[in-house]
Amino acid sequence: MTEKQGGSDVRSNSTRAAPLAATRAEPLAAARADPLAATQAEPTGDGWRLTGHKWFCSAPMSDAFLTLAQTEAGLGCFLVPRFTPDGERNAIELQRLKEKCGNRANASAEIEYRNAWAVPIGPPDRGIATILEMVQQTRLDAASAPVGMMRQALGEAWRYAQGRHAFGRPLAEQPLMRAVIADLALEVEAGVALMLRAARAFDGAARGDEAERALARLLPTLAKYWHNRRGPGFMAEAMECLGGIGYVEESPLARLYREAPVNSIWEGSGNVICLDVLRVLARHPSALEALWQELAPARGQVRELDDALGDLERLLEAPPEVLEPRARWLTQRLAQCLQGALLLRHAPNAVGEVFCRARLGAEASPAYGVLPSASPVAEVLTRIAP
Ligand SMILES: Cc1cc2nc3c(=O)[nH]c(=O)nc-3n(C[C@H](O)[C@H](O)[C@H](O)COP(=O)(O)OP(=O)(O)OC[C@H]3O[C@@H](n4cnc5c(N)ncnc54)[C@H](O)[C@@H]3O)c2cc1C
Repeated sequence: MTEKQGGSDVRSNSTRAAPLAATRAEPLAAARADPLAATQAEPTGDGWRLTGHKWFCSAPMSDAFLTLAQTEAGLGCFLVPRFTPDGERNAIELQRLKEKCGNRANASAEIEYRNAWAVPIGPPDRGIATILEMVQQTRLDAASAPVGMMRQALGEAWRYAQGRHAFGRPLAEQPLMRAVIADLALEVEAGVALMLRAARAFDGAARGDEAERALARLLPTLAKYWHNRRGPGFMAEAMECLGGIGYVEESPLARLYREAPVNSIWEGSGNVICLDVLRVLARHPSALEALWQELAPARGQVRELDDALGDLERLLEAPPEVLEPRARWLTQRLAQCLQGALLLRHAPNAVGEVFCRARLGAEASPAYGVLPSASPVAEVLTRIAP
């Protein structure tokens, strides 16, 4: 999807697609001037020709790519295989691999289609809607991966705290370190609950359950935004639990720290995701209805959650020009309220209650390790996977 002039705004894509019949009259003349395309035989069978540059193409060793290209009818979605039907290598030039901040195990390339052979997927003017079906799946992935990484970092921090002694006691017995790690554990609990609920909505939608389909429109987006906002700070905090060695490549924390921002950027960067939440709420009232139903069983248990839900209801009545600059806050609060409600239903009572107080109440802090007074730290710490 991503081209130099537009990643978020894919409508600005300039890669062109023409049906093969239209290109046969000039049989690959332009391509033959190019050394790579000159090796291409005219493929048999119906198909289209794609010409253009894509600025980010991850996993370029894949056997096929979904891609967007302009047709006469509008932006279309195409499948571009690595080999044409007659077995020749398709005219996709890998120009260079990106030198990335992290995410090194996944190669990302700059590529050029030089009359590459492709087949359309879906109607030629419905490319965005078509490719979004794939994007919703990868957004679920981008919502889940940060939780997995946070869980790994938490495990590393807790293991280290148990083995490391300072000032006469293991770090795991020092009250302030316990508060920090318990707070990280709360974030993982909430992330796992929201991520699995989003995945369940996908399964329900696939079975034809309408309420789950409505939730599946909203939940991966909420979770992708919020888990990735929490991830990088979480990694820094977990790294610090290990002291100096946390910053050294011998521990896995440095790699997790570099990896942490990527799931926020791709498949829709933070702002774009929040604007998407507004779009879903405006276009699909059933999504919000399904969300209120999901939250209903948790009402009346913790004052902080009830108050936050009341604030949300008032905010949602605001006109679009008020909501747009507040889209991050709205998305964050929807995600946190749902996390709180899920924990109240599925985790021990103490965990759900302290999460609601720590994240939604007056004592909520943007920093990790600032739990409200009288928090059940020991109970939260028992939730960390061995
Ligand atoms: C490691 C990696 C691998 C990638 N792999 C692929 C891939 O395989 N295929 C692919 O297609 N892309 C891939 N991408 C690209 C990625 O999807 C885009 O970089 C991303 O969608 C953002 O697009 P952009 O870079 O053009 O930024 P821009 O669209 O220029 O956005 C810049 C910033 O502006 C914000 N913004 C945009 N519009 C608005 C608005 N209306 N209001 C407020 N803020 C706004 C965005 O949220 C973002 O923070 C990859 C990126 C990375 C880092």
